[in-house]
Amino acid sequence: MDRSGLREESADLVVLAAGGLETPKILLRSGIEAGDGLFADLFVNTYGMMRGARWREEMSMATVIRREGYILSPILDTQIHMLLYLPLRKKLMAFRRGARDASGIVREEGVVKPVTPNDREKLDEGVRISKEILLEVGVESSSIYTTGVRGAHVGGTAAMGKVINREHETEISGLYVGDASALPRAPREPPVLTIVALAKRLSKIVYESAS
Ligand SMILES: Cc1cc2nc3c(=O)[nH]c(=O)nc-3n(C[C@H](O)[C@H](O)[C@H](O)COP(=O)(O)OP(=O)(O)OC[C@H]3O[C@@H](n4cnc5c(N)ncnc54)[C@H](O)[C@@H]3O)c2cc1C
Repeated sequence: MDRSGLREESADLVVLAAGGLETPKILLRSGIEAGDGLFADLFVNTYGMMRGARWREEMSMATVIRREGYILSPILDTQIHMLLYLPLRKKLMAFRRGARDASGIVREEGVVKPVTPNDREKLDEGVRISKEILLEVGVESSSIYTTGVRGAHVGGTAAMGKVINREHETEISGLYVGDASALPRAPREPPVLTIVALAKRLSKIVYESAS
């Protein structure tokens, strides 16, 4: 181990699974071109206050409205999120009531994920419909607030067919990738089951190659 605490290990077989944002950085540091094609599910939350609604007790995302290129689903995010995004007046109301396309790039120095005009259009349409729904169920119109754009479900940054082959292997023999960065494009659904399936497939491949 050197003075920085780093220790070098050698292995014939390495499976890299540090996630869609970290795996490409490690690959880049290993001399492998990775990090293009970052996708993420962009989303905003539109909140509104309604006395006695007890939304906090409801299961998140229990219902989904599917539209062309986006979904609408009810979710009440954490208090920390409200602390970050709500303007002061609405923040006070919230706490008093006890409520609660692949165009990105990852480089070693950071991540860029622009909101394209197409993304913006879908987000705006979703917000418009969400507001209509909130007003229809009786939310106070003055309390309605939409957060800034955030991203979740990142991947695509060491895509199969580009950075890794069908067996998950990189150009460095014995170095495999087994996380969301391997997905060649956004699955359009929450990705975790697909990632688990990919990881199970990879485990079979490396087991067979090692035995
Ligand atoms: C709050 C939240 C809710 C979510 N809900 C859902 C959901 O309901 N359904 C769904 O499908 N998806 C959901 N997701 C997304 C899902 O969790 C991710 O898509 C999935 O975990 C990605 O898997 P991964 O293996 O690519 O990366 P990760 O699960 O992020 O695993 C990467 C691992 O590598 C580790 N790591 C990173 N860098 C290093 C390093 N240099 N050295 C050592 N270790 C390192 C990290 O600590 C982490 O443990 C949610 C995510 C969040 C944050």
